[in-house]
Amino acid sequence: MSIVTLQIPEVKSIETERPHQCPYCPGETFQRWGGGVKAVRDPYLGEVWVYRYRCCRCQRTFRHYPQGVKRASQTQRTQVLVALGWIMGLSYRGLVALYCAFGLKIERMSAWRDVQVYARQLEKERHWQKVRVLGVDGAYVRGWGKTQPVLVAVDLGTGQPVTVGYVEEKDPQAVKRFLEPLVQRLGVSVIVTDDLNSYKVAARELNLEHQVCQFHVRRWVGRALRDLRLHLPPEWHALIHEVQGLIDELPPKGEKRLWQLYRQLPVNRKGRRSEDMAPLELLRHLIGRLAQDWANYRVFDWQAEVPWTNNTTEQVIGRMKMRARTVRGYKNWPGMASGLMAAGVRIH
Ligand SMILES: [Zn+2]
Repeated sequence: MSIVTLQIPEVKSIETERPHQCPYCPGETFQRWGGGVKAVRDPYLGEVWVYRYRCCRCQRTFRHYPQGVKRASQTQRTQVLVALGWIMGLSYRGLVALYCAFGLKIERMSAWRDVQVYARQLEKERHWQKVRVLGVDGAYVRGWGKTQPVLVAVDLGTGQPVTVGYVEEKDPQAVKRFLEPLVQRLGVSVIVTDDLNSYKVAARELNLEHQVCQFHVRRWVGRALRDLRLHLPPEWHALIHEVQGLIDELPPKGEKRLWQLYRQLPVNRKGRRSEDMAPLELLRHLIGRLAQDWANYRVFDWQAEVPWTNNTTEQVIGRMKMRARTVRGYKNWPGMASGLMAAGVRIH
């Protein structure tokens, strides 16, 4: 599993190396043109020295900042420390208080900006990295006015979030629109999801292999079978037991057996909606659905690197939700997107 390492940028108090390139023109030779002190917010340095240079080609002058310093008063070291503190679970208020104890004065607004910058950087790094197996799952996160629907994509090779979308997971076309550019850019060939119909539609239309999370399947099938057992006479209990066994073991030709069982059950076309169906009809319906989706339960068995559950994606969403609780509701989608991205990262 690849990791996000803690890389704290270095900050120099003075830059001894001369600039290589003029910011305004292709010029490459410069004259030193004075310099001055710049106050910075940094755990070790109170100020740095900034030289000014003049381009021999275009005659314009510019500041040449030392490594780790830009125009902002925070050094890059401070920005990363703030973002990491936030990812590790501190609230903005907690961050301000913690760094204040170390003599580092940080404002809440700039702390927020640091997290945003960090998140955008993360997303950029992910932008072109190949992802073969993508975990996708929806969540609802407190935002402006009410909870907002979010769709999260996770690289199941690394366990890191790839992107988040403002997408309702029950809408097949919205899911497809979200996935299509990712599939093309990252080279995704398999998605892992729970068994909502929208994912089936999107996977089919985008020609993706689709592994349905077996944790979800076992949970709902187990519940449904237990319930049916209570409502059906004992002569059907052996059949229920066999279906449960197939789901537990996921044998390669399981769908063949399921179709056999399906045909053994009497057809009763009175009710179309599941609420109107008699228990036996419900059982038949359930078996038909399992047989139909069987191939999507077993992708992990013949495709390397495909997990049989979507737990990794759920863990990423868990981290995102935990952090969302300490933010008092995101104010808009860009803020929510970068907040969630930064929070979803796993640090070792
Ligand atoms: Zn120049």
